Order: sequence, then C-alpha cells, then structure tokens
Amino acid sequence: MPWCDPCDRFYNPNTLLVDGSCPRCSTVLDVADGAADGGGQTASSSKIPWHFWVVLVLVALYLGWRVVQGIWLAVQAIF
Ligand SMILES: [Zn+2]
Repeated sequence: MPWCDPCDRFYNPNTLLVDGSCPRCSTVLDVADGAADGGGQTASSSKIPWHFWVVLVLVALYLGWRVVQGIWLAVQAIF
C-alpha cells in the first residue's frame, strides 16, 4: 500500500498516476512492495481485491438464504 507523506494518506495502487506518483501532489511513492511480487499476477490480482469476492460470496449466500426463507413461508401459507 503506497503511503504519501505530504498528503498524509494511503493510496490504492490503482489510483496512482501511471508513473506511480501521487495524484494530488505528484510525489513519486514507494510501490516496491507491489513490484517485488513481480509479473502480471500482481497486476491482475490488484484489479479485483480478494475481499471483493468474499463480500460477493457472502451476499450470494445471504440472498440464497432469503430465497429459501421466502419459499418456506410460501409453502407454509399454502398448506
Ligand atoms: Zn501526495
């Protein structure tokens, strides 16, 4: 996670400028931890963060459970 001292905040690597500098103050930030992993794997995995999929699965499970509840209530109402 790139940290910008002048702006006193963290930046998502995707929000940085093309050369890896801060979009607000143009300070070149340390993106070594992202480059150290190397290759396209880091680039592709940083596009969609892993917690996005966790949230997606949890939402899918919740909505699926609500559908089951809805069907159950409908069945109880009929019989
Ligand atoms: Zn900055």
